[in-house]
Amino acid sequence: MSLSIYKLRCIGGIHMKAFIYRSVLKRMIEYGQTQLPYEACGVLLGDVEAAATFVHTFVPVPNISTGPLNHFLMDPLHLLPYIKETSGAPRLAGFYHTHPLAPAIPSEQDLLTEWHTVPTHWIVSYAAPSNPHVRCYRYDSIGRGTVYESVCFSVCEDNRT
Ligand SMILES: [Zn+2]
Repeated sequence: MSLSIYKLRCIGGIHMKAFIYRSVLKRMIEYGQTQLPYEACGVLLGDVEAAATFVHTFVPVPNISTGPLNHFLMDPLHLLPYIKETSGAPRLAGFYHTHPLAPAIPSEQDLLTEWHTVPTHWIVSYAAPSNPHVRCYRYDSIGRGTVYESVCFSVCEDNRT
């Protein structure tokens, strides 16, 4: 089923939802595996609407954290092209990072982020190495803290492998 059909179905939805191509999800999981035992990170591009975020592209970004076993810091040189609001440029639809050993839940460190306006935050956990677990969240700032809520996501079939 194409993304456009999902979009039509989503119009009128109340809760924010996310949609992602199966091939993109697969690439996120596989890339994280290649970076183990370190955390991996990257950006997700797509279409962003009020009630839904549509992810169509995954771009890995080098993790330049000095403690990459349990932290990530995206290389700003690689990140910059995606956070500039340029007309015609693909929209930043989300951030991605992995938890090599921890569950797919935002850590205290993750919640120190300033990136509340990024529509979705995806975490892939390899706590069960043979069964990577993916969760999607939305962050919001309350006072000086960050709160998060789960975002349901649907996997869209595509012909890209
Ligand atoms: Zn994390």
